Amino acid sequence: MRLKKLEITGFKSFCEKSGINFPPGISAIVGPNGCGKSNIVDALRWAMGEQSVKQLRGKSMEDIIFAGTNGKPPLNMAEVSVTMANDNGTSPAELRDFTEIMLTRRLYRSGESAYFINKQPCRLKDIHNIFLGSGMGAKSYAVIQQGNIGAITDAGPEERRFFIEEAAGITRYKNRKKETLAK
Ligand code: ATP
Ligand code: MG
Repeated sequence: MRLKKLEITGFKSFCEKSGINFPPGISAIVGPNGCGKSNIVDALRWAMGEQSVKQLRGKSMEDIIFAGTNGKPPLNMAEVSVTMANDNGTSPAELRDFTEIMLTRRLYRSGESAYFINKQPCRLKDIHNIFLGSGMGAKSYAVIQQGNIGAITDAGPEERRFFIEEAAGITRYKNRKKETLAK
């Protein structure tokens, strides 16, 4: 799977709907301090199902909703959609026929939230399942933040094994085994 497009509305500093395309090859995001570069990466992680508020650099999940700036009132909802090219057969079987997969996550200030795969409502578990074994996803090594390189080199044997198993594509099967044994 390859990142193709990100659509951000009401997430952190993005009060108006913004679309960012990622053509094949290397994309770089440049801009002055505080302009929202890291917020783009946060939006990507969030849409991929990130649950840790700390990883998203906030104190509570509500902090990801546009809080207002001079002249612009706060918003009540954040929505991020990430579109991926589904071109290498790593997606779950039920999504194999789609050339693109679009994940959408929405959060209201009331705390209500929703996830969608190709505009169909789904569970967080379904979002996680898409990424297991793909090397992408909120928990993978696909997004390495400032300071995280040390976390990988300093990881204990169990954590390091997780990275290797994810790279080898077997996490999905291990998760299924765990679920089956728990039934
Ligand atoms: P640097 O180059 O310093 O790393 P950056 O481009 O990565 O900067 P970000 O961290 O992405 O900058 O953006 C920080 C900006 O986002 C701050 O101005 C902050 O006020 C704004 N911001 C964060 N959360 C919200 C929110 N909920 N509502 C409005 N603005 C927000
Ligand atoms: Mg930054």
